[in-house]
Amino acid sequence: MQDVVLLGGPGAGKGTQAQILMRSFGYRQLSTGDLLREHRNQGTELGKAAEGYMKRGELVPDELIIKMVEGELRGDSAVLFDGFPRTVAQAEALDALLQSRERGLPKAVYFEISRALLEERMLGRWTNPRTGRVYHEKFDPPKVHGIDDQDGGPLVQREDDKPETIKKRLDVFEAQTMPLVAYYKQSGRLAAIDATQGVDAVTHALLHAIDVDHGH
Ligand code: ADP
Ligand code: AMP
Repeated sequence: MQDVVLLGGPGAGKGTQAQILMRSFGYRQLSTGDLLREHRNQGTELGKAAEGYMKRGELVPDELIIKMVEGELRGDSAVLFDGFPRTVAQAEALDALLQSRERGLPKAVYFEISRALLEERMLGRWTNPRTGRVYHEKFDPPKVHGIDDQDGGPLVQREDDKPETIKKRLDVFEAQTMPLVAYYKQSGRLAAIDATQGVDAVTHALLHAIDVDHGH
C-alpha cells in the first residue's frame, strides 16, 4: 500500500476518513494537528512553541512541523497524512523524506467541499482527544451527548473551532494550502473526491481514488 496525503480544508472530513481506514484497512493515521495538540497538552517545548499559532488559527512554522513528522515516520504501514503537508515547502520536504526512506512518493486525494459547509462542520465538531475520533452534533452525533460511543470517554469541542478562528483558518487554507492542489496535479499524483457526501460515500470515493492508482 502506498502512503497517501489527505488534502482538504479544515473540517473537510480528513480525520473522520483516516480513522475509518485505520480501523478497517490497516493504514496508519499521521495527523499533525492531533500530534501538536498532544504536545501542547503535555507542555513540551514544541507544544509551547506551537500553542500561539494554533490559537490564532495560523500555521505553525514549517521547520517545526517537518522535524516533528521526521520523528514520527517509522514502521511499515502505509501512512495517511492528515493535515500535512499544508504548504509547498512541507510537500517538498515530505517528498524528499519519503524518498530518503525508500518509501516512494505519496498520492494526494483532494477533498472538494464549499467554504460554507466547512464552517458548519467545524462549528458542530466534537472530538475524543484521547483517540482522535470525531463526531458532529448534527451529522454524526454520539448516542449520548458528550460521550464517545466507542470508549465511553469524554468528547470536547476544540478551542480553535469558534467562528473568528474558523474564518482565519479558512483564509490560511486558501492562501497557503490550496497551491498544493497544483503541486500534486503537476506530478500526476492528484485525485479529487466529492467531500460533501455522507461519510460512507466519501469512504467509498476515497478507497476508489487510492485503488485506481494501485494499478499504475
Ligand atoms: P478534518 O480532519 O478534515 O478537519 P473532521 O474529520 O474532523 O475534518 O470532520 C469535521 C466535522 O465534520 C466533524 O464533526 C465530523 O463528524 C463531520 N464530518 C466528517 N465527515 C462528514 C461527512 N461526510 N458528512 C457530514 N459530516 C462529516
Ligand atoms: P488541524 O487539527 O489539522 O485542523 O490543525 C490544527 C492547527 O494545528 C492548525 O490550525 C495549525 O495551527 C496547526 N497545524 C496542524 N498541522 C499543521 C501543519 N502541517 N503545518 C502548520 N501548522 C499545522
